Amino acid sequence: MDSIFRPCIEYQRGSTELVIFSREVKQLVTVAYPKSGRFRIRPYGLADYLQRRGLFIECFCGMLSDTPCSTRIVDSAVNGHVLMQCANEQCGFRANITDIYHTSFFTSSYEELPTLVANPQPNMNPVHDAFRQLAPNEHDIAPYFHGYLGSHVSVWPDFRQLRGLVGAPSANPRPFIRLVHRRAGSIQGAAASQLSMAARRGQRVSTRLPLGQDSGMVVMNRLSAYETGLLADLSGETGVFCCDGTSNAYPAL
Ligand SMILES: [Zn+2]
Repeated sequence: MDSIFRPCIEYQRGSTELVIFSREVKQLVTVAYPKSGRFRIRPYGLADYLQRRGLFIECFCGMLSDTPCSTRIVDSAVNGHVLMQCANEQCGFRANITDIYHTSFFTSSYEELPTLVANPQPNMNPVHDAFRQLAPNEHDIAPYFHGYLGSHVSVWPDFRQLRGLVGAPSANPRPFIRLVHRRAGSIQGAAASQLSMAARRGQRVSTRLPLGQDSGMVVMNRLSAYETGLLADLSGETGVFCCDGTSNAYPAL
């Protein structure tokens, strides 16, 4: 297996550009590092950039597979560099995004690649066709693919750009995400203390209830209007309680 990918690995390791596999043209290609305005996308923001546009970049395993093999973007535990690598550590694909951020000659704002919100199904055929019409150069293992930055989820709806450790959304969430998590956690804590207060109150009255009716619903029914309103406000801000369809657990008093 290793020998099949050896030329790709050697070319990629020797390049200062982003070298990836393109399923659409079935070969190794060099793509431009994305930028926004005059500034390159920071390495830790690349996975987000791709996911927001419904793009994913394949590793060399894709050469042998009928279905896409997304790379995984991770933080190196050694030096904090952002790496794009084979999700299964099989083919040897490994691009140091932090290095390429500094060294790539090709950059693009990829205006032909809208976000999923702006256009969930962009027509990528003109980009692919333009590459196919280039004169073949057998000496260029990974020719530059203008306007291309991976496959699109509108063509492959079951696939997406992988990131972080297996089972984790990201190894390096952006700072504002950490802030949201902290805030949600503290609000959950406040809500929990409200609930435990209510539970204590419910416990007191439950002695008069038939066996089995001392449920959370009973506790909620016995909250004051102020406490119900407080919980509604808290759940509305964080989505902790309402988003799973349990908002009916808080009847209006
Ligand atoms: Zn692979």
